[in-house]
Amino acid sequence: MKKATKAAALVLTVVMMAASLTACGKSAEPGEVKDTTAAAQNENANAAGEQGEADAENAAPAAGGTLTFGTNAEFPPFEYVTSSGVIDQYDGIDMAIAKNIAEANGMTAKVENMEFESLLIALQNGQIDAAIAGMTVTEDRIEEADFSTPYYTATQVMIVKEDSDVASAADLADKKICVIQGYTGEICVKDMGYPYEAFKKGTDAIMELINGKCDVVVLDSATAQKYVSDNEGLKIVEDAAAFESEEYAIAVKKGNTELLDKINTVIDTMLADGTVAELGAQYIEAISAE
Ligand code: GLN
Repeated sequence: MKKATKAAALVLTVVMMAASLTACGKSAEPGEVKDTTAAAQNENANAAGEQGEADAENAAPAAGGTLTFGTNAEFPPFEYVTSSGVIDQYDGIDMAIAKNIAEANGMTAKVENMEFESLLIALQNGQIDAAIAGMTVTEDRIEEADFSTPYYTATQVMIVKEDSDVASAADLADKKICVIQGYTGEICVKDMGYPYEAFKKGTDAIMELINGKCDVVVLDSATAQKYVSDNEGLKIVEDAAAFESEEYAIAVKKGNTELLDKINTVIDTMLADGTVAELGAQYIEAISAE
């Protein structure tokens, strides 16, 4: 029942327009709640697969070449390592979207797993073609890369122990706060002017919380939900007034309009036909049911 409640609390929203490029502040907009029946999940892969096959006249799977996506596979349900993922050992909402993008263009998707903070550099030096990593569009990042149509709305939430008295962001004033280095959660806490400790991985910050070495972890909503589902004794506290909604998008090297157009064509189709919402429901359900 607990898990069902948590799953129900997850709201998958699909954004058509960028509302704001700041990670924190006021005016969080409630997004559109999509139908969570996962009935059409198989259609997702099929839709892109058929198109890919049609394009791939020469039969070889990589007839159109390889599209290399950079990610940081420590961000379930968007990207994580598993025994058999949709792209090699990588699975998650973003990985399924990446595969669709590649196949719709007759290409094979490849994943380069790296630190989150290395992604935009890897784009700039040509190590990867695109970065898909639950990456929030921010003012700083659009200086460094070009972003696709946003495909998901998230918000920062506070993960605390079940008996915590934290009820809003204002309560963080005298708390020990943990964030993940380079994530928008760090930007939010920094903007609020609170001291914090930054960890390289979400799991490390959560371990610190469980061990009582910190009082709160500020993290993206869907990923926070996964950690709370996985670990007894934790809960999520939301403060929509303090943490503005964020939009995830795919980054390409600045000026690479050719690839950005290809990506946007697929993203726009996947948003319009409900594929993104279905993938979200499918993966969020899968991790909640574990
Ligand atoms: N959405 C957050 C950010 O962009 C975290 C992304 C991630 O860890 N993959 O900073």
